[in-house]
Amino acid sequence: MKATTQTPAGGVWADLVGQDRVVEILRRAVAGQRHAMTHAWLITGPPGSGRSNAAKAFAAALQCERGGCGQCQACRTALSGAHPDVTLVRTEQLSIGVDEVRSLVQRAAMSPTLRRYQVIVVEDADRITERGADALLKSLEEPAPKTVWVLCAPTPDDVIVTIRSRTRLVELATPSNAAIAALLQRRDGVPEAIAQYAARIAQGHIGRARVLARNEAARTRREEVLRLPSRLTTLGACLNAAANVVEAAGEEATQATAELDAREKAELNEALGAGTKGVRRTNMSAALRELDDQQKARAKRFQRDALDRVLTELTSYYRDVLTVQTRAGAPLINAEHADDIGRLAQQHTPESTIRRLDAILDCRTALETSVAPLLAMESLMISLRA
Ligand SMILES: [Zn+2]
Repeated sequence: MKATTQTPAGGVWADLVGQDRVVEILRRAVAGQRHAMTHAWLITGPPGSGRSNAAKAFAAALQCERGGCGQCQACRTALSGAHPDVTLVRTEQLSIGVDEVRSLVQRAAMSPTLRRYQVIVVEDADRITERGADALLKSLEEPAPKTVWVLCAPTPDDVIVTIRSRTRLVELATPSNAAIAALLQRRDGVPEAIAQYAARIAQGHIGRARVLARNEAARTRREEVLRLPSRLTTLGACLNAAANVVEAAGEEATQATAELDAREKAELNEALGAGTKGVRRTNMSAALRELDDQQKARAKRFQRDALDRVLTELTSYYRDVLTVQTRAGAPLINAEHADDIGRLAQQHTPESTIRRLDAILDCRTALETSVAPLLAMESLMISLRA
């Protein structure tokens, strides 16, 4: 039976907005059409385009008797990560090393308990190290008969070439604003006006659009960032802006991690307490200290992520300034700030706007290294003023 792209795919595919072509490819594979199925896939797409959702939908559809109905036990457990024959690998580490890959390869060699497929989804395949890749190659080349690897990465170039060449590539598109707005209304019950606004300012990032649509505090924070450029009139104002941005990012990180931190600490205390007699006091404090370090590292990363979003928003703002200056005619991302944007466009040259966009890029690079966030931001704000 031949599926057509005209009929919108329901079930597990319903939320993959603007990806009709990819959904078609994966559905054919699930349906077992000749040459459509293979045992190693690489799903790529820009951040927020839905790589991991596509991978999970594919995994679910492979386990489902009806090709991904979205309703049955197999679909639901595969999507949630509870299916015995679906392994979802999602790392918070910077790399996926050889030990972790070896345990996945062992898993991949096992027969599926429920007789369909053994599916291994690796969400950040771009983080697999060279040695990890070496450990993976054999399993990609000579897989167990029922095993399917689904690797995800931002672009094919992010994945080690020996892995890439042994997988079938599926590339997601950046979803359109209209498709994202429709999803927010249908799936999340967001009112139309807010859905359209969130889709426009999120620039193709579905997760970010969802946060902005549902979280008023996130919208307010964004508005505050967009008011910055026209206020950077003195050195004092620049330093002030940098301090405020860094502080707000810290608060955002604290809010996001506080609940998680407390739960982890309670769980660890419970685990240690459960075997009180066997656990020496020194082991307990070592375990608590290790957790503490991990939590601090996570809070730091959340803060950097929040600062990264500030940079994305500033980029969209200066891109709008440049659009006005070059009379490119494209619609403004930040139409609500058209007056301020128009004023800056008149006061400065396109060349200086490009310099400002470069300064934002430099700041992003600095934040990826060990430069203190406040220093990086101060330097940026001063460049944006000059
Ligand atoms: Zn199903």
